[in-house]
Amino acid sequence: MKFLLVLLVVGVGLWLLTARLRGPAPGSGEAGRPRRPAGDKPVEMVACAHCGVHLPEADALVEGSRLYCSDAHRRLGPAPEPPPDAPR
Ligand SMILES: [Zn+2]
Repeated sequence: MKFLLVLLVVGVGLWLLTARLRGPAPGSGEAGRPRRPAGDKPVEMVACAHCGVHLPEADALVEGSRLYCSDAHRRLGPAPEPPPDAPR
């Protein structure tokens, strides 16, 4: 009976040791990726409806369904459609 108890203790000890050595399971998507702090979401970039410059969505000014980089561009409104034969 004492032998069974020792075997149990050794078994649990080995299980804990191997679980610690293994760490995060390989192939879980963590390997090879740069680590980011928790809650660091990628910044959503949006284009200004007037000049087309890209800026973080949090910094954009919203007018209806359009987004602008500045108050001046918000007042100017969306850029006019370029003519189809515009030189490039
Ligand atoms: Zn703009």
